[in-house]
Amino acid sequence: MSQDERIRVAIVGAGIAGLTLAVALNALDKDHKITIDLYEAAPELSEIGAGLNVWYRTWQVFRNIGLGDALIPLFDHYPDLKPRVVFEVRKADQKNGFKIVDIMKDGGALRIHRADLQRTLIKHLPLPGSNVIINSPCTLHLSHRLTNYTPISTASISPHSGPVTLHFSDKPPTTCDILIGADGLKSTVRQLFLTRLPDPEKYKPYLEPVWSGTIAYRGLVTKEELREKFPGHRALDLPGVMYIGKHKHTVVYPIGGGKLINVVATIHDKSKDGTTLDGPWNSEATQSEFYDQFVGWEEEFQALINCIKRPTKWALQSLKHLDVFAKGAVFLMGDSAHAMVPHQGAGAGIGIEDAYIFATLLTHPSSPRRFSPQHISHLAHIYNTVRVPRAIAMSKASIKQGYLYILGTPGFEGVREGEDVPKDMLVKIFREVEGNWSWTTSDPEEDRRKAVELLETGMVRL
Ligand SMILES: Cc1cc2nc3c(=O)[nH]c(=O)nc-3n(C[C@H](O)[C@H](O)[C@H](O)COP(=O)(O)OP(=O)(O)OC[C@H]3O[C@@H](n4cnc5c(N)ncnc54)[C@H](O)[C@@H]3O)c2cc1C
Repeated sequence: MSQDERIRVAIVGAGIAGLTLAVALNALDKDHKITIDLYEAAPELSEIGAGLNVWYRTWQVFRNIGLGDALIPLFDHYPDLKPRVVFEVRKADQKNGFKIVDIMKDGGALRIHRADLQRTLIKHLPLPGSNVIINSPCTLHLSHRLTNYTPISTASISPHSGPVTLHFSDKPPTTCDILIGADGLKSTVRQLFLTRLPDPEKYKPYLEPVWSGTIAYRGLVTKEELREKFPGHRALDLPGVMYIGKHKHTVVYPIGGGKLINVVATIHDKSKDGTTLDGPWNSEATQSEFYDQFVGWEEEFQALINCIKRPTKWALQSLKHLDVFAKGAVFLMGDSAHAMVPHQGAGAGIGIEDAYIFATLLTHPSSPRRFSPQHISHLAHIYNTVRVPRAIAMSKASIKQGYLYILGTPGFEGVREGEDVPKDMLVKIFREVEGNWSWTTSDPEEDRRKAVELLETGMVRL
């Protein structure tokens, strides 16, 4: 099939979701019916460093799109279903901190350096001259910030039906058949998409993300330095530690082949939940500022802060629960569709599943080899049917998990930071946390099969 006749997919945003989609399309496109243009606003695909928690469910997606061998050496342990400790949880907002429970999960949590994952995805892009078997040729366009998209003909009936023209700042326009918005939390594609739905007023609250009222201090600790400053520190040997207290919790786990420890320390102010953030959503922070937030916490926790010279500070934002991710030939994916608070460690995982489901649908043998607006519109309905409920459920579960971590659920109203709480109450809370992760070993193929069934039976129609 000549390249001119192929279905032209434009992916806007080369974050985890956009990169995964390009890799998944190439892996599944056995009929060679797709070409990919990947547009990224940044001038280079810089590798951002911090930890990422990958659950066994997400691992299965990576394996199914051919990344298994490349990723296995980068995880902190082999991906299997052995029961493992995910976190030792400690009540740490007091000098004499103590262990509450070990949170166990079959398969544990696979921890990876984000830069390692991103590098692996980039290596597997079907770019000319790469070592990858190329089914769907991909062109990477850096320094391409999308500013608008328009139907190719002004006579076109719907602004969502392909083909569409893409407009960029300082770059000539181009065209595509299908537009994927994988451009993150502040997605331009989402904003354009929602204002062009039949009921744009309804979607005004979804244009911008909202602040969850939580600030996260993030940083990496080298094991070498921690060993020197605090010999025998438990974070040196454990697969994960969670330090909790009233309104605050911190997640700590090793990444980067065990040399580094990822630290994410959060502080929640319920009165700010749902408000719009005033000021930058991420910035540099000082060690002393970080320290001041955790005065009186147990010594081993403070030792971690002591090893983070240049922490960063992030306002955790999320998107209200959007009920439509696709229409016509425009699809939203990853944070662009469903940015969520990170308390289930699943935001990227859900974006990876979006990519997998979309790639499955478009490459399925019953999807035509040429672009058909009616068929793509049909795929949009299936994508909404399968992805919207999954993402909303996970976003809700993430919010709930966050309140459990910080003793923000009923029964803990009177508790203040640093106060003793009966251990049995704490154990109960963290057993609930453990139970809320039961989905992590479930099979992503169930959603994939559901999508394929809807496609084959034509049960979701315009
Ligand atoms: C503290 C914290 C911890 C987290 N931990 C986890 C975890 O353990 N596990 C997990 O699964 N998830 C986690 N997440 C969530 C995860 O980081 C995100 O869900 C994920 O990175 C989103 O990926 P994305 O590709 O959708 O968006 P992004 O990574 O934001 O990528 C979007 C890309 O689009 C580009 N772009 C933006 N606008 C334009 C434009 N107009 N034109 C062209 N390009 C554009 C950007 O430059 C960027 O490269 C965490 C989040 C936070 C904040």
